Amino acid sequence: MNQITVLGATGSIGVSTLDVIEQHSHEYNIFALTGNKKIPLLAEQCAKFNPKYAVVVDAEAAADLVSLLTQNHVSTQVLVGTDALASVSSHEDVDIVMAAIVGSAGLIPTLAAASAGKKVLLANKESLVMAGNLLMQAADKSGATLLPIDSEHNAIFQCLPRDIKSLSKGGVSKLLLSASGGPFRGWSLGDMGEVTQEQACAHPNWSMGQKISVDSATLMNKGLELIEACWLFDVTCDQVDIVVHPQSIIHSLVQYVDGSVLAQMGNPDMRTPIAHALAWPNRITSGVSDLNLAEIARLDFEEPDLVNFPSLGLAYEAARVGLDAPVVLNASNEIAVQAFLDGRIGFTQIAEVVADTMAHAIFKEPDSLSGVQESDKEARARSAEIILRVQR
Ligand code: NAD
Ligand code: MG
Repeated sequence: MNQITVLGATGSIGVSTLDVIEQHSHEYNIFALTGNKKIPLLAEQCAKFNPKYAVVVDAEAAADLVSLLTQNHVSTQVLVGTDALASVSSHEDVDIVMAAIVGSAGLIPTLAAASAGKKVLLANKESLVMAGNLLMQAADKSGATLLPIDSEHNAIFQCLPRDIKSLSKGGVSKLLLSASGGPFRGWSLGDMGEVTQEQACAHPNWSMGQKISVDSATLMNKGLELIEACWLFDVTCDQVDIVVHPQSIIHSLVQYVDGSVLAQMGNPDMRTPIAHALAWPNRITSGVSDLNLAEIARLDFEEPDLVNFPSLGLAYEAARVGLDAPVVLNASNEIAVQAFLDGRIGFTQIAEVVADTMAHAIFKEPDSLSGVQESDKEARARSAEIILRVQR
């Protein structure tokens, strides 16, 4: 029986993970579930999966959860705070950790899982963007297996030869990262000035949490994924091409020196990469319906639009600069996206805030976790100041 901790169980990835696990309950057992705001849902999940621990972020949420669990006679023990997130991620009884907290809050528990040698199913791309170096080193040292959940990276992983030491030795010439283009594909910056939160969160193909939905609309998501790919597959950003593919059927591709291009395809449903990584190196069913190519009929491809989606260019810049530029990019983007979701700034101001924050940053090498946290904090403060100046 594999013992699993699901970080961010109440989110979109968390719920899909529990759906796959429920289909294979004779092989996977939930050790711990964690959540932040949706406490009634977390309580329901505890009642269903009976984990040993549930972890929440603050004391108020803990009190609400304890009261719901007691009412329903559920014996799950409730823990609170970041140290508890790290401890259920590194606990000796745990085999697999699904890292599906959104944003920088995922870094500490993901790093704890990687340092403890777990099989880490990595959805929380922000932790790789912030601290790719530390995470990859921690996994190397402990023997942890990092398996990508992000559909594009999971696709690339599936298209690479097993046990490949370096991409060039394996005959790989390029990684091709698919992008749907988001809800505003084909729009101009002017058209996007007045879009609402609902419009930005209405992704044409995927149903996801709010933050990643907004990132998909600005194309910052693809920028974060570019940096994620560089760390996961040990390539430079110039070895990764982004191809816009609006149908989201081809999840990404690998180009080889002999002209072969391998693609991974499937219906856009995160249960496929989740099931793939859970069972890896084996395969299990996911509940996703078979691909009907005749019904899909056509697949389209185009170049990404860097003029009307400046966030993608900012991510390329951060990837090329290296140092703590990705930390600054990520922190500033988190602050700006939240300000947009709160109605304080417009959609196109998200990229403006990030650009302004990056332009005034003095980049330095973040050699430790505390260095990363320092850069993250400074960038958040700078972005918050900029937002105060420009907000509506
Ligand atoms: P979501 O907003 O639906 O869920 C986020 C989860 O994180 C929730 O369980 C929430 O309670 C928890 N959380 C939020 N803030 C927290 C905090 N401060 N401390 C502890 N926990 C906190 O997000 P999602 O769409 O499930 O995405 C999760 C991660 O997976 C993100 O990093 C995202 O980029 C990545 N991802 C998501 C998808 C997708 O289809 N949803 C695809 C690829 C990658
Ligand atoms: Mg993705």
